[in-house]
Amino acid sequence: MRRIVVIGFGPVGGRFVEGMLPAVRAGSVELTVIGAEQDDVYNRVMIAEHAVGRAAREVLDLPGAAAAIDAGARIRLGEAAVAIDRRLQVVRTSTGDRIGYDHLVFATGARANIPTLYGMEKARRHRLTRALSPETLDRGEHALPRGVTALRDLVDAARVASAVRAGRRIVVLGAGVLGLEVALAAREQGAEVVVVYTGGIPMGRNLDDDGGRMLARAARAAGVEMLPHSIAESIVTRTGADGSARFDALVCADGKLVHGDLLLLSVGASPRVELAAAADLAVSTGILVDDRLQSWSDPAVFAIGDCAHVAAPGTARPDGYVGGGPSGLIGPGWRQADALSARLSDATLDAVPFADRPAVVALKADEVDLVAGGVVDASPWDEEPHAASCADQRQVTQWLDPARGAYVKMVTRGGVLEGFVSVGMPRAGAELTLLFERGGELPADRSVLLRLDADDAGATLSGDPFAPDATLCWCNGVTVERIGEAVAAGADTVECVGRTTRAGTGCGGCKGRITELIARSGVLTAGA
Ligand SMILES: Cc1cc2nc3c(=O)[nH]c(=O)nc-3n(C[C@H](O)[C@H](O)[C@H](O)COP(=O)(O)OP(=O)(O)OC[C@H]3O[C@@H](n4cnc5c(N)ncnc54)[C@H](O)[C@@H]3O)c2cc1C
Repeated sequence: MRRIVVIGFGPVGGRFVEGMLPAVRAGSVELTVIGAEQDDVYNRVMIAEHAVGRAAREVLDLPGAAAAIDAGARIRLGEAAVAIDRRLQVVRTSTGDRIGYDHLVFATGARANIPTLYGMEKARRHRLTRALSPETLDRGEHALPRGVTALRDLVDAARVASAVRAGRRIVVLGAGVLGLEVALAAREQGAEVVVVYTGGIPMGRNLDDDGGRMLARAARAAGVEMLPHSIAESIVTRTGADGSARFDALVCADGKLVHGDLLLLSVGASPRVELAAAADLAVSTGILVDDRLQSWSDPAVFAIGDCAHVAAPGTARPDGYVGGGPSGLIGPGWRQADALSARLSDATLDAVPFADRPAVVALKADEVDLVAGGVVDASPWDEEPHAASCADQRQVTQWLDPARGAYVKMVTRGGVLEGFVSVGMPRAGAELTLLFERGGELPADRSVLLRLDADDAGATLSGDPFAPDATLCWCNGVTVERIGEAVAAGADTVECVGRTTRAGTGCGGCKGRITELIARSGVLTAGA
């Protein structure tokens, strides 16, 4: 019996465990899972929806501890792995227990970043500081001041939920995709929201200038106050009725005071690598693994999900830096979990190299439809003097209609999409996502894409978003054909389709298209 120990019971660790259960039931694997959170595994991607009251707690449920325990796995919740002895192949936990392994899987994920602000320095932790208990896993010497929170787990979600329910004023620090999602959702649920960010545009890592401006405009139209070019420096606290200090205002470098009842930190996340680093495993941004998800330093060790940095061994610069890093997205993490559980379930199987698809970022918001991927900051006027021929030159096509809140940018080389931005153009966005995923060629007349969203849209392209091999659910990699089969077999709601195929059970951004697909097949059946 091979002993496998998993550290971390987040959505990716949970998916790995699910994939291992047949081997556990068959008695070929002894599986132990160490999870620092008290809660059973849940879908973290939906945490913002849950925090603002749009998704009940049960909606976040994933196949969890009960099924695993039933199959014979040992699940240790509320316990942290605190040290690893690789020579003896033993993990020590916060309770003092020592657990032996043949294979060790890191699924330790990422923690929310705490910015450097006067007034909360002691809440910051050094990225390589090892925690000795689940409670100190993500915090420095002190907890965050009252009225300040990140949004990463159910405890954070409860803090945000009470502010939203009471219609309080929420100051969101950071305008990345998560900051924007929660700002829009909280505003829609009645909270007063202001977003403070350093750059000139929101989602500056994913969007070009015009796309960012369109998004800022849509957020303002939805009632969110947007404060660009604002460098937060410190927080001011006030003394509450119970005598304790709580957040009062954020102070910016230009002297501006941004008052609020809750400060929501949304300044990115960092992979939890400290345990691996202390065990002398190679780490850079994340835990370094090859395309078989196996540690650069130890063949008995693997990493998946938000903590895994997939890169070819030997590509470190002299200063130790390795390019790339964890994607921070659930889809790649779930695919890694599936690939690794298939391999570790059957010791005779050869490892299949893990190759990921190009990442596409979609904003989950009712107010604005936004999707972007690849190279987005190229300008139509950039010149590439070294390109061998005209066909090799990068081409950039843009269309901007501020009055309608619509913007599309397509960056191509040799007709093939290298990057795109689509705001307020759901059909064009879906089509471009599909073409980007497939490396498909764009039509010479790019305006065909714009007409997809016209009121009298009849236009279709060769890359039909409902073609059988088109990926409909990106988080779970489920195609139109697979969903069609489930619908034909009787799955007539989005939930049923999700139970059979997993489609729609990640970020939920594809649920509209699943509904459309179910409706289409209804029409087809009726007409047949
Ligand atoms: C608000 C929000 C919205 C998001 N939206 C999207 C989205 O729309 N699309 C998308 O693709 N992704 C989204 N994400 C990202 C997605 O949630 C992550 O990619 C995903 O959670 C990664 O899963 P994971 O299991 O690798 O890590 P995590 O979810 O971080 O889980 C890791 C687990 O390991 C535990 N752990 C860590 N160290 C130890 C230890 N030493 N001992 C024991 N346990 C340990 C942690 O407590 C945690 O439970 C979102 C994230 C957030 C916070």
